[in-house]
Amino acid sequence: MIRDAERLNALLSDIHHFITAECMPLEEDIDRSGVLPDGLVQRMRQLGLFGHSIPEAYGGAGLTCEELSCVNMVVSQAATVFRARFGGNTGIASEALVVDGTDVQKRAYLPRLASGEWTGCFALTEPEAGSDATALRTTAERDGDHFVLNGRKCYITNAPLADLFTVFARTDPDAPGARGVSAFLIERGTPGLSTPPEMGKMGQHGSPVGEVVLENCRVAAASVLGGELGRGFRSAMKALNKQRINLAGLCVGPAMRLVDEMLKRAQARRQFGRPIADFQLVQQLIADSATEVQAAKALVLETSRRRDRGEDVTMEASMCKLFASEMCNRVADRAVQVFGGSGYEAGNVAERFFRDVRLFRLYEGTSQIHQLNIAKQLLSQPALRPSHHQMHQPSA
Ligand SMILES: Cc1cc2nc3c(=O)[nH]c(=O)nc-3n(C[C@H](O)[C@H](O)[C@H](O)COP(=O)(O)OP(=O)(O)OC[C@H]3O[C@@H](n4cnc5c(N)ncnc54)[C@H](O)[C@@H]3O)c2cc1C
Repeated sequence: MIRDAERLNALLSDIHHFITAECMPLEEDIDRSGVLPDGLVQRMRQLGLFGHSIPEAYGGAGLTCEELSCVNMVVSQAATVFRARFGGNTGIASEALVVDGTDVQKRAYLPRLASGEWTGCFALTEPEAGSDATALRTTAERDGDHFVLNGRKCYITNAPLADLFTVFARTDPDAPGARGVSAFLIERGTPGLSTPPEMGKMGQHGSPVGEVVLENCRVAAASVLGGELGRGFRSAMKALNKQRINLAGLCVGPAMRLVDEMLKRAQARRQFGRPIADFQLVQQLIADSATEVQAAKALVLETSRRRDRGEDVTMEASMCKLFASEMCNRVADRAVQVFGGSGYEAGNVAERFFRDVRLFRLYEGTSQIHQLNIAKQLLSQPALRPSHHQMHQPSA
């Protein structure tokens, strides 16, 4: 749902100006140095980029899902590292708190996440619990009015610089799988919580990812998200469900950018006495990419609208994430092809995006896990789904 098209367009235009004038010129340097300048992060705070999805009552912009998807498709046209800096706060690192936090918890943390004063992270994955996150082994044992956490989280985006950690731990050792899991809001500085140096990565240099180590980390019972035990996994799934649509939008932006880069390169590069854009086999690479970008964009926007109407889009969110992330990787591969040998050269725009977007098919559910989700949903539904004959949804 777009509440005010004029206001949204003004916002998108400001963001577009920011990424083209201030972010894109730094892409290559940041890829090489792995450091995002502090001044740029300050500009992100000034522009309100950290708080887009957080409700207005807590200092954010309260964007609807469709509005946020529009923002995501623009912001991600610059290298993925920029969005990764604030994307947790306006996605996975705040969403569980937004949907399931108590009012006290929301008032304590959401304004600081919305302003970007604090950076949040979402710590679910463990060395032995990746695709099967319900196998997590981190424990949280009750001790009077406190819990004592022990365990190790890995591959956590922004962990090395985060101020607030949403940590998922097992509070009931007798309840297997998802049932015994609770979520905890833990501040940096809490004794027993530490973050080793960031890990080295294939791409997305400048977006720190690393471990969260919990060694007898003692937190007050009031830090249980929502104040209720055993509901942590449900909160994680709610946050991930929305995040899948966000991430799909974030896959469309890079693909749009790469279509532009392919067009520029194909018109500038001459072989056999003419621009390579004259060759139909090169045209096919670009035409297929542009068509797939439009298909992903349409799917993401339609799913966002349906979510805004309150419909259950669990399956469609998986479809968005699966299709858009695979699409983006196909487009990045074609971009390298259009650039030829230079597309393999370190620092080339196609080479950089090719490395950066590879992650999209892995995190927040691998492609295989989304294929399984989609099949599970289809197999559990009646043969003739309403969406097969209701082509037009009544407007709200
Ligand atoms: C850079 C980066 C940032 C990340 N950020 C975060 C974060 O902020 N927070 C967080 O909690 N996690 C984060 N993750 C973790 C990410 O979500 C996991 O890596 C992902 O869920 C896959 O888990 P895994 O790596 O253990 O792979 P595995 O689960 O070991 O999967 C390996 C392969 O097996 C396949 N596979 C597994 N099970 C099945 C099955 N049942 N059927 C078919 N195929 C299967 C997978 O699809 C995959 O191809 C991040 C990861 C990376 C690399």
